[in-house]
Amino acid sequence: MLNDKSQWTDTLIHLFALASRLEGEGQYNLAKLMRAAADSLCRRETYPLDISGDKDKLTAEVHKAIEALSRLNINADLLAAMKHGADFLAQGKLSPITATPHPYVCRGCGSITLSSPVEPCPTCGAWAETFQKFMPNYWFNDLEPSAAFERLRQTPLVVEKLIAGLSDEMMNQSPSDGGWAIRNTLSHLRDAQGVLDFRVDLFLKEAHPILESKAVFAWAKNESERPPSARDIFETYRASRAETLRKLESFAPSDWDRVGEHEEFGTVTLRQQVSYFTAHESTHLAQIRALIQ
Ligand SMILES: [Zn+2]
Repeated sequence: MLNDKSQWTDTLIHLFALASRLEGEGQYNLAKLMRAAADSLCRRETYPLDISGDKDKLTAEVHKAIEALSRLNINADLLAAMKHGADFLAQGKLSPITATPHPYVCRGCGSITLSSPVEPCPTCGAWAETFQKFMPNYWFNDLEPSAAFERLRQTPLVVEKLIAGLSDEMMNQSPSDGGWAIRNTLSHLRDAQGVLDFRVDLFLKEAHPILESKAVFAWAKNESERPPSARDIFETYRASRAETLRKLESFAPSDWDRVGEHEEFGTVTLRQQVSYFTAHESTHLAQIRALIQ
């Protein structure tokens, strides 16, 4: 944080106010620069902060934020949902969509609602479409079907190149921080691929499938029912991917808009699920590269 906190806060608020005004004048390109600057300022300040990933500490942090927000008079439904989410976090569980719905924020006045707005904003009268929907992550709409398909085809080839020449011993070696070995990352890719393949089948067979929430991340260090070597894990991943690509290829363009009900994320399309899984994989390529170095 800059020495002069109020200068920082004033600048941030001014940027948002200015962006809204500029948008009102049709100056969208100039407005987007203001919004980017505001976002950058916030992320730059948060980047060096090191909040612990420990479940109990993290739960305490959420409660601290709820307390601060209630002093700032933030929407009670939003705070209740946060408390609900914190309860799941405290139990080591992921919060379902029923406890933590997608919030919508009025771009005009900042009014918040936890259900898809159909009426104009009760505070400022802005039309329902003015509200910004907050999705759990940006990967849902990151990739169009053709780009996602190509990436799904490419990623195993990239992984293959990355691990070429590495011995099993090297791939099993955990980093000094106790994090994942390459083997764990490969297991994770394989597990996520298994979930994707299973879901593609569900979208294919059922009209509105229920998609169970899966804590795939937690499986990466589980060594039961795994092929013996890291390279075998990679091979099962690659074979399963080929199968998924074959299925996706058989889909008509309209099939990508099939919807399912995700326990964690609510109503999602096949397009969004594929985009999500595809983009997710890319984050782990960087992880493998870092481990090799
Ligand atoms: Zn409003």
